[in-house]
Amino acid sequence: MPEAQPKLDIVAPFWNEAASAKEFARLLSELEAEVSRRFGFETRKILIDDGGTDDGAERFAQALTGEWEIVRLSRNFGKEVAVLAGLDRAHGDFVLIMDADLQHSLEVSLQLITELVEDPDIDVVYARTNREGASWRRSQLAKLFYGLINSSQRFDIPENAGDFRVMRGPVARALTQLRDKRRFNKGLYAWAGFRHKALIYTPADRASGTSKWSRRNLVAFSLEGIASFSVVPLRILSLSGLATALAGIIYGFKIFFEVIFYGIAVPGFPSLLIAIVVLGGFNLALLGLIGEYVWVALSESKDRPVYIVRDVLSRKRDDREP
Ligand code: UDP
Ligand code: MG
Repeated sequence: MPEAQPKLDIVAPFWNEAASAKEFARLLSELEAEVSRRFGFETRKILIDDGGTDDGAERFAQALTGEWEIVRLSRNFGKEVAVLAGLDRAHGDFVLIMDADLQHSLEVSLQLITELVEDPDIDVVYARTNREGASWRRSQLAKLFYGLINSSQRFDIPENAGDFRVMRGPVARALTQLRDKRRFNKGLYAWAGFRHKALIYTPADRASGTSKWSRRNLVAFSLEGIASFSVVPLRILSLSGLATALAGIIYGFKIFFEVIFYGIAVPGFPSLLIAIVVLGGFNLALLGLIGEYVWVALSESKDRPVYIVRDVLSRKRDDREP
C-alpha cells in the first residue's frame, strides 16, 4: 500500500485585498507545485475573508486553483481572530500561515517549509523580520515592550516575529484550544510552547493598498499584549505605591517633630503641589492600566464565540475541471 501523502494546509486571512487576489492565487499555485515536487505534499488552501467590503472573496474564488476553502466571517474580527478561524479548519500534517497581501513571498514560504520538513527536532519555523528601516524610536519602543512583557514569565515572546510561520499539525491543534477573544497571537504562539526556530527575512513591500495597522492600533495592540501577558505593570504599581506611602509617612514624622521642637508655621506650598500633581498623575495612569486588565477579564468572561462564520465557499480537488 502506498504511504499516504503528507498534507499541507495554507491559511491566509484577507481583508479588502481584492487587488492582490490574482497575484496571490498565482503565488499559491506555484508554491503548491513546488512543495508537491519537493516533498510530495498534498495541499489545501484556507482563506479567511475577514469581513471585507470589496469583492475580494469572489475574486479569490475565481483565481484559486486546486483544493480551497474561503471562509467568510460575518464582519471584520481582526487578523488575529481570522487566523484562528483558519486554524480551526486546518487538519493537515503541516500548516502554513501567510498574509494575502503579497508581503510574504514564495521564496520565504518555501524556505520555512523546507526548514521544518528537514529538521524533525523542530515543530515551528517562524519568519522574523530584520526590522531594517524601522526608526530608532520605534525599535526602542519595541524593545521596551518586549522587555516588559517578557520579564515575568516562563516563556519568551520573540521580537519581530509575526504570524508568518509553518508548524506541525499538533501545534496548530494546540493553538485552536486557546480561545482567547482578545487575541495577541505572538503571545499565544509562545504560550503554547513546542520547539521553535527563527528564519530572518525582509518582507516585500505591499503590492497595493496600505497596511491595516494604524499607529493607534499599534498602541492598542501593545496594551492588549501587556494586559493579557504580563503582571509586571501591576507589580510596579504596588511597589511604587508602597514606596510613596512610606516616603509620605517618613515625611509626616519629620514634620511632626519639627512642629513639636521648633513650632514651625506652614511654608512649603510648592512641595505640597508637586506631591499632589505627581501622585494624582500616577493614580490616573495606573488606574487606566488596571482598567485594561479588567477589560480583558470582562471580554474573556463573556461566553461568546471568538468569531462567527457567514458562509464558506469551497472546491474539492475532484471538482476540478478536466
Ligand atoms: N487582515 C485581516 N483583518 C484585519 C486586518 C488585516 O484579515 O482586520 C489581513 C490583511 O488583509 C493581510 C494580513 O491580514 O492579508 C496582514 O495585514 P496588513 O498587511 O495590514 O498588516 P502588516 O503586513 O502591515 O503587518
Ligand atoms: Mg501586510
